[in-house]
Amino acid sequence: MMITEPARQVALHGEYEVAVLGGGPAGILAAASAARNGARVLLIERYGFLGGMGTAAGVSNFCGLHANVHGHIRQVVHGMTDELLDRMRALDGLNAPHLILGKIHAQAYDISAFKCAADGLVQACGVELLFHALATGTARDADGRLDTLFLETKSGRRAVRARVFIDCSGDADLAHWAGLPYEKGDEAGHMMYPTLMFKVGNVDGVRAQEAWKTIPTLMDQAQASGEFTFPRRGAIVRPQKHDYEWRVNVTQLANRDGSAADGTDAVSLSAAELEGRRQIVDYLSFLRAKVPGFEQAYILDIAPQLGIRETRRVVGQYMLTREDVLGCADFPDSIGVNGWPLEIHAAGDVQWVWPPIPESRGYNQLPLRMIVPRQGPGIPDNVLVAGRCASMTHEGQSAARVSGSCFVMGEAAGTAAALALRAGIAPAQLAPQALQQQLERQGVFLGAREQSRETALQ
Ligand SMILES: Cc1cc2nc3c(=O)[nH]c(=O)nc-3n(C[C@H](O)[C@H](O)[C@H](O)COP(=O)(O)OP(=O)(O)OC[C@H]3O[C@@H](n4cnc5c(N)ncnc54)[C@H](O)[C@@H]3O)c2cc1C
Repeated sequence: MMITEPARQVALHGEYEVAVLGGGPAGILAAASAARNGARVLLIERYGFLGGMGTAAGVSNFCGLHANVHGHIRQVVHGMTDELLDRMRALDGLNAPHLILGKIHAQAYDISAFKCAADGLVQACGVELLFHALATGTARDADGRLDTLFLETKSGRRAVRARVFIDCSGDADLAHWAGLPYEKGDEAGHMMYPTLMFKVGNVDGVRAQEAWKTIPTLMDQAQASGEFTFPRRGAIVRPQKHDYEWRVNVTQLANRDGSAADGTDAVSLSAAELEGRRQIVDYLSFLRAKVPGFEQAYILDIAPQLGIRETRRVVGQYMLTREDVLGCADFPDSIGVNGWPLEIHAAGDVQWVWPPIPESRGYNQLPLRMIVPRQGPGIPDNVLVAGRCASMTHEGQSAARVSGSCFVMGEAAGTAAALALRAGIAPAQLAPQALQQQLERQGVFLGAREQSRETALQ
């Protein structure tokens, strides 16, 4: 049944050149780069802090900053991301890179340091922030361009006007309301499963040693003996900066029919939050009973929200695919690179698929076309999309959804928006070369097409 809501007048919060929806990895870089390039920018975030899944979902680990280049691991994401990392380092909030599955690096971080460093970066660039503002709808002008974003705030309903909108909501909320085409899940509608992340404290780091190597076997044994059942294999249990504090990525949340809990469905989300906490309590019992060094561990923190890997993905001018990732694809309109492999969170399992090591250069370029929605009748030309809801197939997204690629897409989207405004054209009309030149000036590594092995190793 539907209820008719009476029409009402909405107060205008402000008018901007660029409005960025969502303050996750993509939104932080989109807002910062648009403002750095001279645009008047509002960054809108439903929580009271930035970081997206990286803070609100307790991720606390950057993947995708590095690639395995012919058997040697090196950082391939730079540009304004380096400024964010420097700010985190200055807060003593960034670990040295660690090896994952013997093949690639990730970098653990302190969640509070990410929040504070992100605040610092966007403020230094001149971004205006509006926290505690949940975007709930859009309106168009007489020419069909997107004109207004509606927000629910503690001050009541508000409207924000902008000339360019960048959807960094992770769930393509803005694109959904604006009528842009999107996909959800694979051909059968299956999405990556979400995880409720948690941290345990009071671990005896000396006795725990490299427990992440032994835990999978201990889990198999505990499951075989019938003592414990686990929602999935492929647990990721790693120490943070101090070895008495470990993060645990092991829960897996499904609907009653076994399909992945849906991050765009309030009922599904509610059930998953409850089930996630139940799984966490259960897993702590396993850690305490079976893993040396964890006997006195306790739940230090459960992430404020369920970690959502995949919901809507906008259909853009190009969709990044599995083959692009595994074949280390080149694109003439590169905006940066992704060095993370396919990481597929399927029912009960996590599957990894890598580009050939050491034969391949280990990263694919990311095309500008994946952040530009496919144009057509009725599609507004003043929207860009960056981050995990950008234009990728289900499997392509399993790789390029990680923080490193989201930073890359965000910096490109913000820079593109500012350049397009300066040129008086729609973002979809921007020539890639103009954007690439500016991104290179900002220090972005575009993944040179004919890069020699020697250059790649520098
Ligand atoms: C459990 C889990 C573990 C992961 N592990 C890793 C890892 O180890 N390393 C790694 O690099 N990546 C990891 N990832 C992936 C990575 O964290 C995300 O893909 C990445 O954060 C996506 O960035 P984003 O900016 O596109 O979106 P998000 O991080 O999802 O940010 C979107 C932001 O938009 C806001 N928002 C959404 N809708 C609205 C709205 N309507 N109004 C206002 N604000 C809104 C949200 O609050 C959020 O801040 C993991 C993800 C999950 C779920």
